[in-house]
Amino acid sequence: MAIETLYDKDGSLDALSGKTVAVLGYGSQGHAHAQNLRDSGVTVIVANRADSANGKLAKEHGFDPLSVDEAVKRADVVIVALPDEVQPEVYEKSIKPNLRAGMALGSTHGFNVHFKTIVPPTDVDVIMVAPKGPGHTVRSEYENGGGVPCLLAVHQDASGKAFGIAMAWAIGVGGGRAGVLKTTFKDECETDLFGEQSVLCGGLSELIKTGFEVLTEAGYPPELAYFEVCHELKLIINLIERGGLNYMRYSISNTAEFGDYHTGPKIVDARTKETMKQVLADIQSGKFAKTFRDDYANGFVWFKAQREKDRNHPVEKVGKELRAMMPWLKPVEK
Ligand code: NDP
Ligand code: MG
Repeated sequence: MAIETLYDKDGSLDALSGKTVAVLGYGSQGHAHAQNLRDSGVTVIVANRADSANGKLAKEHGFDPLSVDEAVKRADVVIVALPDEVQPEVYEKSIKPNLRAGMALGSTHGFNVHFKTIVPPTDVDVIMVAPKGPGHTVRSEYENGGGVPCLLAVHQDASGKAFGIAMAWAIGVGGGRAGVLKTTFKDECETDLFGEQSVLCGGLSELIKTGFEVLTEAGYPPELAYFEVCHELKLIINLIERGGLNYMRYSISNTAEFGDYHTGPKIVDARTKETMKQVLADIQSGKFAKTFRDDYANGFVWFKAQREKDRNHPVEKVGKELRAMMPWLKPVEK
């Protein structure tokens, strides 16, 4: 592998022995880090609003949710698992005033540290362990005896022990069983944003909606359009996940594979690549991060309007009806 990859044997949980780890937030990532670390023998405390759904879950799981101030005061290592947009204000108000020299400040995504919306003091370690999977998989794989691969980075090594602490965290969360890829806050943050915007979330959502619109505007029934441009994605993704594009192409019909080579480059063409390069440039320059922060400061007006518009797209209406016919999918409506 081009990147240094570490396993359980390359570190030790001992780096966290005698230390208290505070996990701030008990959402997707927080609940997984808190429980996995505790099950690995680490002393863990949790900060969350006690009366919210996540706060109640933390209690059910045997934690006693504290305020962020209190948790940071009691901790040696702080893992920030709060939404990226709220982190700067919680940091200024409740984390920074309680940080002491020699502590470690950890995050599960490099966004705020990399874009300097959080600037930790120079006398604390700044580390990251970012699992490459949703929190619920981080928890379930750990319970199954495995783990989700993690990215690990050290942004600031004040104690001289930052790597050992980060590695112990990665091991404790189960990442060392799968592989821990050593990287930087910059690379993790910029590739993560690029992936979710261009391919995984942004690119894919637009591809689905546009494919659906072309078929339905041409008079085809929306039900058929949904099956062909949305539902069947799962089958394709499963093949790619297991064996890459080669295995997907091996498994599909020759007609589908021929069409793939024939038409794919017309859909994602040289112009799309140029646009992707511009998207990357805007991420690297901090322009995207500023746009995100400005909208948050404005009450997420633009964000909420887009969410409302897309919630009512025809592909969502017909999708809801069709998913109800397939209970084995365990359909959810949000
Ligand atoms: P979630 O939205 O699932 O959970 C956020 C938690 O923060 C909740 O417990 C919430 O508590 C709490 N919270 C929200 N607002 C505040 C506030 N103002 N003050 C105090 N607590 C608050 O977040 P994620 O787990 O998705 O994301 C956390 C971090 O992990 C982010 O940096 C994200 O980029 C990163 N990450 C996420 C991944 C994922 O799969 N989701 C994957 C890898 C990294 P309450 O319930 O009370 O509102
Ligand atoms: Mg991401």
